[in-house]
Amino acid sequence: MKTIFEKTGLDEEKDNRIYEMASEILNRGGLVAFPTETVYGLGGNALDGEAAAKIYAAKGRPSDNPLIIHIADIDALKVLCSEIPPLAYSLAEHFWPGPLTMIMKKTEIVPHATTGGLDTVAVRMPNNRTALELIRRSGVYVAAPSANLSGRPSPTKAEHVRQDMDGRIDMIIDGGNGDIGIESTIIDLTDKVPVILRPGYITKEMLEAVIGPVDIDKAVALGKQSDAPPKAPGMKYRHYAPRGEMVIVEGKDPDCVTEKINRLAAQKKKEGMKTGILATDETEPFYKADYVISVGTRGSELSISSHLFDVLRQFDDLGVQYIVSEGFSRENVGYAIMNRLLKAAGGKIINTDESEE
Ligand code: AMP
Ligand code: MG
Repeated sequence: MKTIFEKTGLDEEKDNRIYEMASEILNRGGLVAFPTETVYGLGGNALDGEAAAKIYAAKGRPSDNPLIIHIADIDALKVLCSEIPPLAYSLAEHFWPGPLTMIMKKTEIVPHATTGGLDTVAVRMPNNRTALELIRRSGVYVAAPSANLSGRPSPTKAEHVRQDMDGRIDMIIDGGNGDIGIESTIIDLTDKVPVILRPGYITKEMLEAVIGPVDIDKAVALGKQSDAPPKAPGMKYRHYAPRGEMVIVEGKDPDCVTEKINRLAAQKKKEGMKTGILATDETEPFYKADYVISVGTRGSELSISSHLFDVLRQFDDLGVQYIVSEGFSRENVGYAIMNRLLKAAGGKIINTDESEE
């Protein structure tokens, strides 16, 4: 399949043509990758089971891992969800368009092919002009997981999508880079107390300020070991992972952390591995490895979240076999950043306050 590439935001007439072409593709059951404020999505018609099947095939994604449906209009909730608790509307009012996905009971018209066989459906209104225009103009409810090959870091640039999806889908729309860079917060509204199934930019505290107490699914809670299967099926799969082996180092004393990271990198280099260190602007000068890349400044959570997946992909492109990453505070968006980093590292973390070697 030949994949069409187009860039929006250059001139209005061209944008119109791009949206027309993309709408036509979505309406005939094809696939279009598009930008959102979180990561790039791989879109297909959510009400068309065959289109959903194509999404799974293009990503190599297990078919029990449900898709998020993207909408541009709050009225779509009534079409897609059969039980809408009042707090869904409060959340929509506060956080939509934005990086929050809500899970509710689905209606009959949503095929099980889209929901991974579940009777619930995940819905979100993205805060990105290109995404909203595409959804509005096509008149399609757009099922869209992240537009990466299953298991790879999510794409935050059109170029990432090209690397993974060229030749596998009909069209890629380049609409620039998302400013958030990590996937939406997912909240399940089907229980008495709402549960966060995936942490993201919208934090537990932000949600609680609007709707009162919110739980975090045990399987995604940081720092707690749980054998309970995650309620968001996608969270059980290896995710966000660079090709190289990865470990996180954290601790109270920044000098100890720097020293430990340098020592690990030196040791692996001696063993013949190509090494990389995921640093921050503040610490970058103190490291030594084959590649030292700063993910952003510690002064801004968004600078870190928005570059995280790109840096993991850069290590892949450079053929890095062993990556050591600094850890981050688990406060606010840091919680979601550490969730992604821990997944990328397969849970491997060293705390210099505890380890004595
Ligand atoms: P992605 O689209 O790649 O960001 O992945 C979508 C995530 O949403 C996966 O982790 C899914 O498991 C989760 N998800 C989507 N629909 C549901 C649902 N109905 N119930 C629970 N989790 C869901
Ligand atoms: Mg994904």
